[in-house]
Amino acid sequence: MVKPAQVLVVAGTHGNERNAPWLLEHWRRQPEALQRHGLDVALVLGNPAAHKVNQRYVERDLNRCFAPELLADSSRNEADLQRARQLLACHGPDAEAPSLVVLDLHSTTSAMGNSLVLYGRRPADLALAAGLQGELGLPIYLHEADASQTGFLVERWPCGLVIEVGPVPQGVIQAQICRQSQLGVEAALAVLAAAQRGRLRLPAELVVHCHLGSLDLPRHPDGSPAACLHPELQHRDWRPLRSGDPVFIDPCGKEIGLALPPDLVGESVCPVFVNEAAYGEKGIALSLTRRECWPVGPDWLLALTDIASQLAQRGAPL
Ligand SMILES: [Zn+2]
Repeated sequence: MVKPAQVLVVAGTHGNERNAPWLLEHWRRQPEALQRHGLDVALVLGNPAAHKVNQRYVERDLNRCFAPELLADSSRNEADLQRARQLLACHGPDAEAPSLVVLDLHSTTSAMGNSLVLYGRRPADLALAAGLQGELGLPIYLHEADASQTGFLVERWPCGLVIEVGPVPQGVIQAQICRQSQLGVEAALAVLAAAQRGRLRLPAELVVHCHLGSLDLPRHPDGSPAACLHPELQHRDWRPLRSGDPVFIDPCGKEIGLALPPDLVGESVCPVFVNEAAYGEKGIALSLTRRECWPVGPDWLLALTDIASQLAQRGAPL
């Protein structure tokens, strides 16, 4: 017999993102806060060791540890990679108590507001995102085809996405950020419950911001920053930029314009994760996206319904 599966909610994949873990404690004390849709929800603190020391990670970004070849490499034993293996062993799709859907809760220091992050174009993920966009109007950042950033947590579950909330400084808890996280999780559970009952209706279109690439700060030969983000770009996530628009400024006040590849000159692109505090070490000052409008695919709803039908029921849904 196929085992009924849970929905996994991960808080604190990054140890210095404090809002979702704080909510997690609340949900553990009052589980009914997440039970109104009748789904069996598993709650887990993503990276307890990093959370304990209020750092993003211990040795390696946990949200870059889930590449299959890395997980399988027995010569690699960084603490965060071991935690990734442990999360899969305890809550993965093949675990004793399996989860088939994962909601990975993050916060950003960038002025992106609340958004969803998808990795690739799996139909079930797109359906879940479309349901959430229809419900909450959230923008979607589709991260794909980026060889320098791989191994994201949600990719190892059959369906999953990141709920990204901000802006909030690292290490800081803010009521509004917690509220937005709570709303995002509740809405996702409502979409999954509707899919389980065969009652999910998706909007006709999905608006996605597709990853084009990332820009690093201009740097001196020794690697130190030669310029910083242009003040006109600070806090302007999602707002279209064109080739030549100022993106950096050096200490003498010299502006450095956006240089787009020839195939994008004349187009507008939308910046995301602008000056994100966590991405300095990754050499990312901002990422660029192209806004696209996709008709919702006929296979999306089927894919999500198939997964949702395998989720356990916890009493009758309201
Ligand atoms: Zn994060």
